[in-house]
Amino acid sequence: MILKIVKYPEPVLSQPGEPVTEFNNELRKLVSDMFETTYAAQGVGLAAPQVGISKRFTVIDLSMGKDPAQKLVLINPEIIHREGKLYEEEGCLSFPDIREKIVRAAKVRIRAQDEHGKWFEKDGEELLSRCFQHEIDHVDGMLFIFRMSALKRDLVLRKIRKAQREGKW
Ligand SMILES: [Zn+2]
Repeated sequence: MILKIVKYPEPVLSQPGEPVTEFNNELRKLVSDMFETTYAAQGVGLAAPQVGISKRFTVIDLSMGKDPAQKLVLINPEIIHREGKLYEEEGCLSFPDIREKIVRAAKVRIRAQDEHGKWFEKDGEELLSRCFQHEIDHVDGMLFIFRMSALKRDLVLRKIRKAQREGKW
């Protein structure tokens, strides 16, 4: 089932998600729906707050549905190591058509639980590193516009307000 992706400034996007404590079929159905929603939106990652659920989990698939081995489910994720710097353009499904360069760590190691509650660690570089940081920010209620310079953020917010006035947001 394809879920509705909420857009900024929906308040749920700015709230830190609640930890996931039950690893049941309901959670696994939601995870599967979130992958379907990500593919339909042609994204590489989606966090629970983006479908209106204030919980700490996210799905990532850099292959956009082409390679099942690349599907990642991160539940209660945290970054346990960061190194280096990247400065690349980033987008967000909750900010349609907005792309800006964001400073991120070049490499990260994350720790998370899978959909059965099992803890694991995983390293990410380049795009995967950025994706981990972007999605884990979402479960903390942090949005990429707040990682931009104040000047860029103002320009983006102005663009959004204009689109809202024109009924395009
Ligand atoms: Zn996002």
